[in-house]
Amino acid sequence: MENAIRDFFMHLSQNKVLNQGAKRWGLKLGAQHVVAGTTIDEMIASIKKLNEKGIACTIDNLGEFVYEKVEATGAKEQILNVIEAIHTNNLDAHISLKPSQLGLDIDYHFCRNNLKEIVTKAKKYEIFVNFDMEDHARLQQSFDLLDDLSADYDNIGTVIQAYFFRAIEDIKQYKNYRLRIVKGAYKEDATVAYQDKNEIDQNYIELIEWHLLNGKFTSIATHDHYVINHVKDFVKKHGIPKEKFEFQMLYGFREEMQYELVIDGYNFCTYVPFGEDWYGYFMRRLAERPQNLNLLVKQVFNKKTNTIIGIGIVAFLLGRMTKRKG
Ligand SMILES: Cc1cc2nc3c(=O)[nH]c(=O)nc-3n(C[C@H](O)[C@H](O)[C@H](O)COP(=O)(O)OP(=O)(O)OC[C@H]3O[C@@H](n4cnc5c(N)ncnc54)[C@H](O)[C@@H]3O)c2cc1C
Repeated sequence: MENAIRDFFMHLSQNKVLNQGAKRWGLKLGAQHVVAGTTIDEMIASIKKLNEKGIACTIDNLGEFVYEKVEATGAKEQILNVIEAIHTNNLDAHISLKPSQLGLDIDYHFCRNNLKEIVTKAKKYEIFVNFDMEDHARLQQSFDLLDDLSADYDNIGTVIQAYFFRAIEDIKQYKNYRLRIVKGAYKEDATVAYQDKNEIDQNYIELIEWHLLNGKFTSIATHDHYVINHVKDFVKKHGIPKEKFEFQMLYGFREEMQYELVIDGYNFCTYVPFGEDWYGYFMRRLAERPQNLNLLVKQVFNKKTNTIIGIGIVAFLLGRMTKRKG
C-alpha cells in the first residue's frame, strides 16, 4: 500500500500537463502549508518570521521541466532578485537551486553561465548557494557544474543522496565543501540506488558520521527523529562543535521540532520553497510519507474549490490500487 502511494505520487510529480495547470491554479490541494507563497514578498514575510525565531533559511525558487531558454533565463532573473532581496532585507538566508531549472536539460554551458551569474552576485553579498541534487540522470553533470565553478568560487556546495551506491565516494571527494546530506527524494533504478528503506537509513547514518568527522560543514536534512537523536549523541561523544553542523527541515514540516532544536542551541535551517511552480515539489512530499496526505485530504473536504481536483486524484489512486490487487 505504502509503495503504491509512493509510486502513484512520484508518477504524478512528473506529469507535465498537471504541472502546467498547477501554475494557473495558485497554491491548492494543501500546498499552501508547505510552500511559502508564490511571490518574493510573501516568501520574505515567511522568512522574517523564521529568522525572528533564530531559524536560518535556504530559499528555493520552485521550478521544474524547463526546456526553453527563455524560461531558464526567467528563473535566473528571479533568483538574482531573491539574492537582492536577501541582501536588502538583511535576511539570514541563502539560496538552493536546481540545475535543471537553469537549463541543464537544454545545454550544459548555457546552464553553467546562468549559475555563474547567480554565484557571482551571491558572492558579492557573501551569500552561499547550494546546488540541489535531482535524479540520477542529472547527477554527474551537477557535480561537473560544481567542479567547474569551484575554481573561482568558494560560496557553493551541494547535496549527497544516501540512496545512491556511489554516495560514499562522492562524499569523500567533496569533503571540503559544505554538504547537505539527505536520504534522496526521486524514484531511482535498482542498478544505481538502494531500494530498501533500512539500507538507505543505514547508509544515511554512515555518510553523516563520516562527514561530521572529516568534512567541512554538514547539513543534516531530515525529519527523522531517530536520525536526529543519533546525531545528537554522536556529536556529543566525538566532541564535534555546534559550528560544524546544522539540522535542516522543509518549510511547514515538524515545526515544533524545528523550534525545539533551536531552543536546545543547535544551528537550524529551514528549506523555504516559493513560487507558482509548486506542483512537482508538493507531489514528491506526498510520495515520501503517506501521512502527508493529511495536507491534501483536509483541503479536499474543507475547500469547495479543491473538491473536484482532490476527488479526481483520490479516485485515480484508488483505481490504481484496486487494479494492482486484482
Ligand atoms: C532541507 C531538505 C532538503 C532536501 N534536499 C533534497 C535534495 O536536494 N535532493 C533530494 O533528492 N532530496 C532532498 N530532500 C528530501 C530527502 O531526500 C527525503 O526525501 C525527505 O527528507 C524524506 O526523508 P526524511 O529523512 O525526512 O525521513 P523519512 O524517511 O521520510 O521519515 C523517517 C521517519 O521520520 C518521521 N517523520 C518524517 N516526516 C515526518 C513528519 N512530517 N511528521 C512526523 N514525523 C515524521 C517518521 O517517523 C518517519 O517514519 C531534502 C530534504 C530536506 C529536509
